[in-house]
Amino acid sequence: MSAPPLRVATLAGDGIGPDVTASAVAVLQVVCERLDIPLHLEALPYNATWFLATGTGLPSGEVQRIGRSFDAILAGALGDPRVKDHAHVRLIRHALFTGLDLYANIRPAQLLTPTLSPLASAQSGRSRVDLVVISENLEGFHPDRDRRVRVTDDEDAYVTEEWHVPHLVARLLRFAFEWARQRGRRRVTLVDKTNLVPAHRVWRHAFHTVASEYPEIAHDVRLVDTLAHDLVRAPERLDVLVTTNLFGEILSDLTAGLVGGMGIVPSANLHPGRCSLFEPVHGSAPDLVGTGRANPLAAIRTAGLLLDSCGHRSAAEMVHAAVLASLAAQVTTADLGGRATTEQVTDYVLRQLRLQPLPARVADGRSL
Ligand code: NAD
Ligand code: MN
Repeated sequence: MSAPPLRVATLAGDGIGPDVTASAVAVLQVVCERLDIPLHLEALPYNATWFLATGTGLPSGEVQRIGRSFDAILAGALGDPRVKDHAHVRLIRHALFTGLDLYANIRPAQLLTPTLSPLASAQSGRSRVDLVVISENLEGFHPDRDRRVRVTDDEDAYVTEEWHVPHLVARLLRFAFEWARQRGRRRVTLVDKTNLVPAHRVWRHAFHTVASEYPEIAHDVRLVDTLAHDLVRAPERLDVLVTTNLFGEILSDLTAGLVGGMGIVPSANLHPGRCSLFEPVHGSAPDLVGTGRANPLAAIRTAGLLLDSCGHRSAAEMVHAAVLASLAAQVTTADLGGRATTEQVTDYVLRQLRLQPLPARVADGRSL
C-alpha cells in the first residue's frame, strides 16, 4: 500500500533561490519515487519578478487556497535589489506567515562533520554541536509597528515596539517542549533579556508554567548576551533554545556559523497540523547569482526537514544520509572548502538517493 500523497507548493524565490529550490525539488522527486510516496507539486509564480510585472503580491484568496490545497510550501529566499524596501517580501512571505498563522520558526544547527566548524573544540571532537533555535515568528518586533515620535523642535525619535502576548508566548513555548519531547531532546533553554526589556517577563512567567507540564525535560533560563558567549565557548551544553523573533534571527545565524555556515542550514516556519513553509536560512545571495557557487545543501536539507515534519521520517533519513555522503566525498561548493558547482553537488546527492538501500522499516513493511 502506498503512503498518502504529499502535496507541496514551491516558491522559487529570487537570486540563487530558483537554482537551489530546483535542487531541493529534484531531491523530493527522487526520494518520494523510491519510497512510493505520491508527490503532487505546484510551482507558484510569486517573487520579485512577479511583483515588478504585476505590482501585487498574492492574489486575494490565494493564502486560503494554499492552506487548503497543500501540506507544505518549499520556498527560496526573497530579496532583489530591483525592489525598494523589500515591498514584495511583505506581500508574499509575511502574508503567508500571518495568513497561515505560522507561529513557530525552527532552525536546527547540527554539526555534520567536525571540519565544518570553525571551533577548535568541535574540530577535535571535544564538543558536539546539535542545537535548535525555536523562535516566535509572528510577534516581537514588527516592521509594521514602526513610528516616529517628535522629541525636540527639529528631531524625531524612531520607535519600533516589541509585542509579547501571553497566550501566544505560551503557545510557542508549548510547541518547543513538544518538539523536544518528540525528538528525545533533554533540555529547553529560554533566552531573553529580562533585565533590559521588562516585557520579557511574560516569557519567564509562561516558561515556568509550561515547563512544569514536561517534568522529563530539563529547563533553564538565560540572558541572551551571556548565552551568545556560551554558544561559542561551550555549544555542547546547549540543546533546544526558545526565544523571541529578533533574538532567534541573530542567534540562529551564529549557530549556523558554528556548523558550516549559510550554505548548509535549513529552517521551517510551522503551525503543527497545517500547511507550513520550509526555506533555507540563507537569503537570495545576489553575489552568487550565475556563478554556480551557490551551495544547494541548505535547500536540500530544507526538503529533508519538510519530509520529517510531514511524517515521512524514513524519507528524511535518506536525504540526511545522502548529504552526509556528499560531505564525506568532499563533493561540496567553495563555502565548504570544495570545488564542486551547485549542479555537481545536486547530481551527487541525487545519485546517492537512487543508490542508497531503502531504510529497513520501509523495506520490511512500507510503514512510513
Ligand atoms: P545572504 O544569506 O543572501 O548572503 C550572506 C552571505 O552568505 C553571502 O556572502 C552569500 O554569498 C553567502 N551565502 C548565502 N547563501 C549561500 C549558499 N547557498 N551557498 C553559499 N554561500 C551562500 O544574506 P544577505 O546578503 O544579507 O541578503 C541578500 C538578500 O536576501 C537580501 O535582499 C535579504 O533581505 C534577503 N534575505 C531573504 C531571506 C528570506 O527570504 N528567507 C533571508 C535572508 C536574507
Ligand atoms: Mn536572517
